Amino acid sequence: MSSGFSGAGEGGRRAARRTVLDGTGEREVPLDILLLGPQGAGKGTQGKLISREYGIPHIATGEILRAAIAEGTELGRKAEPLLNAGRLVPDEIMIDLIRDRLAREDTEGGFVLDGFPRTAPQAEALDAMLNEIDRPLTVVFEFQLPEEICIQRLLRRAEEEGRADDTPDAIRTRLRLYHEQTAPLVEYYRARGILVPVHADRPVEEVFAEIQQALEQVAVR
Ligand code: AMP
Repeated sequence: MSSGFSGAGEGGRRAARRTVLDGTGEREVPLDILLLGPQGAGKGTQGKLISREYGIPHIATGEILRAAIAEGTELGRKAEPLLNAGRLVPDEIMIDLIRDRLAREDTEGGFVLDGFPRTAPQAEALDAMLNEIDRPLTVVFEFQLPEEICIQRLLRRAEEEGRADDTPDAIRTRLRLYHEQTAPLVEYYRARGILVPVHADRPVEEVFAEIQQALEQVAVR
């Protein structure tokens, strides 16, 4: 099988879709990317860069929830106390939210998912959704960063952005929940052979270069 990125994309500097040549001829497949890693590892920053470069939407569940809180929607009212305490929003709510978001047209060429899934039931629901439309994940990037550095980065962000859940207590809860509920998903995706580790303790440009290299590899896989 041979493949590669097609020419310049409409939305991004590159086309999100890959042209894949297999036994049935040439066809285009979407670039469905998942970012996994602890809070403060730089998923949001890299998600935005990937989105711009490949012209696919960056779907960050934390941002969606913060927007809902700012707008005072029903979702926002339910989510606000949980976010502020650094706790997780219930799986059913998050799964419905992602199902609606992935159904939108702008995800046709792919997406970069950041902050979902965070629990085993969310990962299983995502698989079921993507299987239904015969669209397995292309790649899962695992952002690796020592915990002390995550804490330092989150405390710095607290000073710069004043996020309600960047208080020391909420940070502790969020990192604990990451280790308990989200970190096991690394093995789940490793077993599927789609996990690519990223050394996240480096300047933004270097991390992005590593991601781009990995995406080129994926394109010729
Ligand atoms: P983030 O910006 O990804 O760190 O998310 C901020 C907060 O939003 C988290 O601490 C949770 O309270 C909530 N949240 C975001 N994504 C999820 C998810 N997939 N499942 C449950 N809660 C979530």
